[in-house]
Amino acid sequence: MHTLKTIFPFIILFFSLAFISCAQKPKSQVSSAIENTWMQKSDSFWKQKLSDEQYYVLREKGTEKPYTGKWLLHEDSGTYTCAACGNELFGSSSKFESHCGWPSFDQEINGGKIKTQVDHSMGMQRVEILCARCGGHLGHLFDDGPTSTGKRYCVNSLSLSFEKESKPLKTSDTLTLGGGCFWCIEAVFEQLKGVSKVESGFSGGKNANPSYAQVCTGNTGHVEVVQIIYNPSIIGMDELLKAYFTVHDPTTLNRQGADEGTQYRSVIFYRNEEQKQIATSIISDLQLAKVYSNPIATAVEAFTTFYKADISHQDYYANNKDNAYCQMVIQPKMEKFEKVFKDRLK
Ligand SMILES: [Zn+2]
Repeated sequence: MHTLKTIFPFIILFFSLAFISCAQKPKSQVSSAIENTWMQKSDSFWKQKLSDEQYYVLREKGTEKPYTGKWLLHEDSGTYTCAACGNELFGSSSKFESHCGWPSFDQEINGGKIKTQVDHSMGMQRVEILCARCGGHLGHLFDDGPTSTGKRYCVNSLSLSFEKESKPLKTSDTLTLGGGCFWCIEAVFEQLKGVSKVESGFSGGKNANPSYAQVCTGNTGHVEVVQIIYNPSIIGMDELLKAYFTVHDPTTLNRQGADEGTQYRSVIFYRNEEQKQIATSIISDLQLAKVYSNPIATAVEAFTTFYKADISHQDYYANNKDNAYCQMVIQPKMEKFEKVFKDRLK
């Protein structure tokens, strides 16, 4: 309960460090689990996600008939991505007309997004190219390209999706998260590059303009949340959620460490279908990778209203670093967070 915080200095001697755990178990495992789980998707997952033709090419290493693919004569500017997992593979500027019957590219997008392996099928020795993220079969790589790279990535259209360049990138978006005491998580998100504003407040309850005291009773249905304004061209929602799942324990229903009650529940409030999809997919990836020993209790709910808490709750950690609660509970979280996310700090 938050009453705990107000009497904290008086009872602190009676608490052991273990009791004050804020339970941020997984650290960097969260990031790697999200990236690795595409490789662990089941056959039935792919059968459901892909068309029969895509499944044949991407998962069974099939080849589409030449001169039949939808991207063969396609000339728009943009990025060709893996049709299975969305991994960015080729820029349109690397596409050229090879007259071989399949879309051809002279180089891949940097960053190890494609992997190769020797393919002895069809009585030949060829270099197979696969999506490095999901393992989907793309096609083959040849050293007979006519451009300066000398390469020809011969790719099935069925293995590719396309994103037009003109898609305007949003410069501002908002995400609202509940993960226990808002003092703790506010301090974390304020450190991240691309986050322009973080406010503490309440969401998800019944009555309008609840006071802190009312929310603390646990009877209003509100959750202590942080509302994060961020620039998606600098930091994506998936990165924000990696931080979120690193600094709080999503497996304890209606509780974070010593803070107990529905106002401390773990919840992601989504504003649109895209946010909902990202949230549910990260949760399912973390479950699949068994990052936590207990099931994830984080709820994904439609956002309704955000009520900003009064000024004494804003920037609480920054303004109260000498406070015992900050030193004992928030500071250790911050130190661990800063280690894991050191490349993303302001
Ligand atoms: Zn892929």
